[in-house]
Amino acid sequence: MSYIIAEPCVDVKDKSCVEVCPVDCIHGKDEDKMLYINPEECIDCGACEPACPVQAIFPQEEVPEKWKSFIAVNYEYYGQKSPA
Ligand code: SF4
Ligand code: SF4
Repeated sequence: MSYIIAEPCVDVKDKSCVEVCPVDCIHGKDEDKMLYINPEECIDCGACEPACPVQAIFPQEEVPEKWKSFIAVNYEYYGQKSPA
């Protein structure tokens, strides 16, 4: 399981989550519209969720219905097969 970044991060990208992640598994390039969590490296610690000012981060199983497509977006950013 992993945490997932969803739509609210788009164009915000303030990187508060990056600063608190103990395994440095949140990435995004300058040209990307948002940041993404690497599901293979995320240890499910939950530290990033309260750090996000726009509540863009959710445990994978709690991603709101309207943003479920972002589960695949995070996995595919790292070339991983999405479970959903
Ligand atoms: S849940 Fe923990 S390990 Fe996973 S992305 Fe967030 S801070 Fe990093
Ligand atoms: S803290 Fe939230 S808005 Fe900021 S980069 Fe991380 S996911 Fe995006």
